[in-house]
Amino acid sequence: MPGKVYLVGAGPWDPGLLTIRGRELVSRADVIVYDYLVNPEHLEAASSAAELLPTGRPPNRMTQAEISALLVERAKTGAEVVRLKGGDPFVFGRGGEEAEVLVAAGIPFEVIPGVTAAIASAAYAGIPVTHRGYGSTLAFCTGHFRDDGPDDDVDWGALSRMDTIAFYMAAKRLGRLRDRLCEAGRDLTTPVALVRWATRPDQRTLVSTLGAMVADAEEAKLEPPLTVIVGDIVSLRDQIGWYEHRPLFGQRIVVTRSRPQAGVFAHRLHELGAEVLACPTINFDGVFDDRVAAALGELGSYDWVLFTSANGVDFFMEALDQSGRDSRAFGGARIGCVGPATARRLSGYGLKADLVPETFVAEGLIESLTGLGVSGARVLIPRAEVARDVLPDTLKELGAEVRILPIYRTTAGDVPAATRARIEAGDFDVVTFTASSTVEHFCRLFRPEVLTAIQERVIAACIGPITAKTAQSMGFRVDVTAEEYTIAGLTSALSNWGTWSNDT
Ligand code: SAH
Repeated sequence: MPGKVYLVGAGPWDPGLLTIRGRELVSRADVIVYDYLVNPEHLEAASSAAELLPTGRPPNRMTQAEISALLVERAKTGAEVVRLKGGDPFVFGRGGEEAEVLVAAGIPFEVIPGVTAAIASAAYAGIPVTHRGYGSTLAFCTGHFRDDGPDDDVDWGALSRMDTIAFYMAAKRLGRLRDRLCEAGRDLTTPVALVRWATRPDQRTLVSTLGAMVADAEEAKLEPPLTVIVGDIVSLRDQIGWYEHRPLFGQRIVVTRSRPQAGVFAHRLHELGAEVLACPTINFDGVFDDRVAAALGELGSYDWVLFTSANGVDFFMEALDQSGRDSRAFGGARIGCVGPATARRLSGYGLKADLVPETFVAEGLIESLTGLGVSGARVLIPRAEVARDVLPDTLKELGAEVRILPIYRTTAGDVPAATRARIEAGDFDVVTFTASSTVEHFCRLFRPEVLTAIQERVIAACIGPITAKTAQSMGFRVDVTAEEYTIAGLTSALSNWGTWSNDT
């Protein structure tokens, strides 16, 4: 029994633009044969047993005959083969030729459409491909004409009368395209948009005219892949462009938080248009030793349990669970949290904080506690092994009996080699620090001279004044500091900074 081949359109680049059906097939395929224009992120959904076969980059690309033969050969072994292609498999994707070969070989197949480059380029450049006010015809054309001779098989007369034309594979033939369209009657002043790497974080859109596009593209050094959109409708971009107007568009931002913590922050930055580089400088390990066991055993005897981070909450609750107890063990102890994120984490365990101060640093917690009178109170502070001592020291001065409980420790994170190489090359704009420990661990990743070179090129964005001070003392130029010392606060400070710096 032969397997089956799925000709799947991967869309232009943005991982969100692969269809649900496409993703499902990628995740269960035995073999994936993919093109270089396909975002490698799609492959992360593949099973670890899947065979991943790239068809190569030009000029070392496999020939079409080799690709088709490979599909047939793998399918004959009974495999489920996904043929993953950029955009749509049937739009200038040679999917038709592959399907013909599969039919001839008696291999069952399916076609899963994808968002084609013309549609994606137009949408992300803010150009509606059709609009009632701008005519009613739309053409897709390849710029890769059969023999590039005068007798190519495009009917230029008919094409030039289309209201809107999208050209694929035309980056190297803009002059020829202009000449042919103009000879056939199209005006040199017709608006044109050249969209390079549509839907990627580094998408570029150049608006020009048929007459000026060759010089403009040359000056802008616009390389393939690009899609050329010709027609008056391009002028609508001024009003409805959106993708490139997002506050952090074009900014490449390094997130130094630990892997499990980075998700929400990275997602928010991405939504604002940033390209996010995950650089997990730190990692957290829970501590569950005799001291922890003893403290958990007498938990109910404390007047206060103070959490200084969401991590502290997680590791404490995990230890509580491991010790065979649950939240009833808190007994009459009241709970204080350093800020809203920590309190939210606590509420995930069904516990409400009795105290959340207005300023989200240890000093805020002290101020709130002072008002309540802590003299003589027994206070437990589950926290990181290495942390600032302001909170326990001040509470002791105020007459409290304080017990610090190291419940987790920070270790060096595991930074992917590709990310590391990009950071070392200074190929980014902003590094974000959400704790002093992230600054310290980030700096330890690089040799001093490499670090200095990085610091000369990029700016730092910090979650609050203490982290900012650490970053400055270690040589960073801190241009962004959050006013509210939370991830939401840092995100909004970055968003304001991005709007300002993209405007200037
Ligand atoms: N099957 C693909 C087209 C493959 S031909 C599809 O449906 O999109 C390759 C051409 O597609 C490139 O030369 C370029 O013109 C266009 N293209 C592909 N990805 C693109 C992208 N992300 N941005 C702009 N143009 C793109």
